[in-house]
Amino acid sequence: MTSTANKRETTVIPDEGTSNVDPATRLYPPEYEGHLGSLLISHEEIDSRVQELAQCIHEDYKGTRPVMLCTLKGACPFYQHLLDALQDLKQGYTMEFLRASSYVGAATSGNVTLLGSELNKEDLENRHVILVEDIVDTGTTLANLLPLLQKFELKSLEVCTMLEKRLGDDKTPAAKAKYAGFSIPNKFVLGFGLDYNELYRDLKDIWVISQAGIDFDAKSLV
Ligand code: 5GP
Ligand code: MG
Repeated sequence: MTSTANKRETTVIPDEGTSNVDPATRLYPPEYEGHLGSLLISHEEIDSRVQELAQCIHEDYKGTRPVMLCTLKGACPFYQHLLDALQDLKQGYTMEFLRASSYVGAATSGNVTLLGSELNKEDLENRHVILVEDIVDTGTTLANLLPLLQKFELKSLEVCTMLEKRLGDDKTPAAKAKYAGFSIPNKFVLGFGLDYNELYRDLKDIWVISQAGIDFDAKSLV
């Protein structure tokens, strides 16, 4: 067995942690100048952690074809990288997408709905499903989403998330992911799919937003 316990452990980004990578080396659209606070996780760190997550999934699902179920829009870049890593491991899968909404601005509403879902029972019934998420914060979205998915009579259901937030004050999340890339401090983060008012999904790296970023009028960009 080449399996190591290590890759099953979520990488912890400390509370005051920033990436070792020099932020000045990062690429981002010029209109974001001043909006990015600190660099939390570099693209290179995401990439290598994605390889480890794919190895864990391959070990657990070898010989089966899990349904890789992407939650739009935030998980898209992570999903794409994860599938690429699974291909390199010769792990087969099928692809499905859903859109859940629970977030308004920078505060979780706790109300989860499946928006315009294209999920069909015949694509999910009796299948191993891996829900791919961008971030688990309070876990409210997941806790509401998982029962909606179980209605499709799945063979199994697990969650793979790029990030999970530490909530602090001994708070426990309403639901947890089996596979989690990074445990991050309780801060609002952006990039690699994660947005603030639909901006910043197009960043290669993961950043903490600055006050100027929070105050910026997204509608001023066309
Ligand atoms: P939860 O229901 O777990 O509190 O929140 C999950 C959803 O809230 C995520 O899928 C994501 O859309 C959004 N979210 C939570 N924390 C953050 C954050 O730090 N940054 C961004 N951009 N979105 C977040
Ligand atoms: Mg999400």
